[in-house]
Amino acid sequence: MWRSILCVALLVAGRGAFAQDDTVARIAGAATTRGGASAFLEKLADTVGGRVTGSPQNRAASELILETLKDAGYDKAHFEEYPMESRWTRGPASGRVVSPVERPLAVGSFAWVPGTAGEVQAPLVDIGSPSSNDLPVPLDRLRGAAVLVDPRKVGSDPSFVMRAALARKLADAGAAAMVLPSDKPHRMVYTSAFGFYPRGPLPVVSVAKEDALFLRRLMAKGPVKIALDVRNAFDTRPYQERNVIADLPGTAPGNEIVLMGAHFDSWDPAQGANDDGSGVAAVVEAARILKSLGVRPRRTIRFAFFSGEEEACLGSRAYVKAHEAELDSLRAVLIMDSGAQAPKGFQIQGRADLEAPLKRILAPLRSFDAAGISLEASFDQDHAPFVVAGVPAFALWVEEGEYDTHHHTITDTFDKVDPRMLAVDTAVMAIAAYALADAAEPPGRRLSPAEAAELMQKTGVAGTRQMVYGASPR
Ligand SMILES: [Zn+2]
Repeated sequence: MWRSILCVALLVAGRGAFAQDDTVARIAGAATTRGGASAFLEKLADTVGGRVTGSPQNRAASELILETLKDAGYDKAHFEEYPMESRWTRGPASGRVVSPVERPLAVGSFAWVPGTAGEVQAPLVDIGSPSSNDLPVPLDRLRGAAVLVDPRKVGSDPSFVMRAALARKLADAGAAAMVLPSDKPHRMVYTSAFGFYPRGPLPVVSVAKEDALFLRRLMAKGPVKIALDVRNAFDTRPYQERNVIADLPGTAPGNEIVLMGAHFDSWDPAQGANDDGSGVAAVVEAARILKSLGVRPRRTIRFAFFSGEEEACLGSRAYVKAHEAELDSLRAVLIMDSGAQAPKGFQIQGRADLEAPLKRILAPLRSFDAAGISLEASFDQDHAPFVVAGVPAFALWVEEGEYDTHHHTITDTFDKVDPRMLAVDTAVMAIAAYALADAAEPPGRRLSPAEAAELMQKTGVAGTRQMVYGASPR
C-alpha cells in the first residue's frame, strides 16, 4: 500500500518537474535555434546604428523596439517618458602637436562636455594619476593648460568617479582642457559621459594610447604645446526621453513582477552593438519566445528597455521613481549589459541573503554552466537604481572576452557579437526570468533604505552612488 502511494506521489511530483523542464527546454530550444536575437541586433545596428540618448537615432531605436513587441503580440507595449536636463551633439574634434614638432594627434571628445571655443593652443602639463585632493603641481601651472591625466581607482571608487572629480578640479583651476590617454589598443579613442551629464565642466578629450606615449616622450625632453579644436553643442530646451515597457501577465493573483531589462541608448562612433544592443536583442527575443510558446508564468514578467544609461542610468532612475508604488512587489530585476559573452550566472550585488534561494531557483541554468552566483557589486548599469531602492537586482555575469577592447569605441560593431553566445545569453535571461516568475516564493525581500545604504557601503559602490545621485536619495 505505502509503496503505491509513494509511486503516485512520485508521479505527481515528477509531472510537476517535467512540466517545468519541458518549458525550460522549449525556451532553450527556441533561443538557440531561431536566431531571433542576432537578426534583431543586425537590424538595430545596421538600420539605426549608434544611438546617443536624446538623438533622433535613439528615438528610432525606441520605435523599432515598440513595433517589434507589438508585432509579437504585446498589444499594451508602450513608451514611458521622462525629462532630460540637456541634450548633446558631437561635432568634429581634432588635435595636433604644435611644438617642438608639428604632428596630428588621434583624439576624440568625451560626451556631455563643452567644445573649445575654436582652436586653442595650450602648453601640455602631465599630472599622472593623482587623487582629486592631491594635485601634484601648483594650481597656477594648470591655468590655460591642456592637462594630461590618468585617473585611477582610489579606495573603492572606480577611475570614472575620479575622472569626474578631477575634471571639476581642473576646471576650477582654469585648465583649457583635460586630456585622457585611452587604454584601448590600435590608436582607438574612448568616449563616455559618466559623471559629466548634464554638462561637463571643461573640454575633455581621449587621446590614443600611442599618441599619449609619444607626447610623454616629447615632454621628457622639454616643453610641449598642443592645439585642440573640439566642436560640441548642447540643447537645454525641454525634451522627453522614453523607456519602452511590455508585460507578459502572470496567472497567479497578486501583482508580483520579475523585470528583465537592457538599455537601448549607446555611443555614437560605432553601432552600440555589444553595448548594449546585445542586451536589447536578448530581451526583445526573450519576449518574443515566451509569447510565441504561450508560456504563462505565475507572476508577471516585465520587459524594460531603458534609455539614458550611458549618461548615468537616467531611464532606469526615472522608472524607479515612476513605479515607486510597485517596488514592494518587484520580485527581482535582471539586467544584461556586459556583452554577449559566455554566461556564467548572475552578479547579485552583495545580497548574500539571496544566494541560497537563487541557487535553487536558477538550477535550470546548470546545463548552460550558467548557474553561478557572484556577490560582486557594481553601479554602472541599470540594476543600480533598483539596488538603491533595496530591490533584489542582478546583472547577467559573463566571461570578459573581447568586450572591453571594443567598449565605447569605434569598433563596437555587429560583427564583434558572437551569435552563438548571444543565443545562449538569450536562453539564460529568458529561463532565469521564467524560473523567478514561476517560483512559489520570491528569492528574498526588499531592503529598507538604511539596509540598502549599508549594503552599498559594504560593497564599495557608495562613492559611485554619490557621484550619480548627488544629494538626492533616489
Ligand atoms: Zn551599457
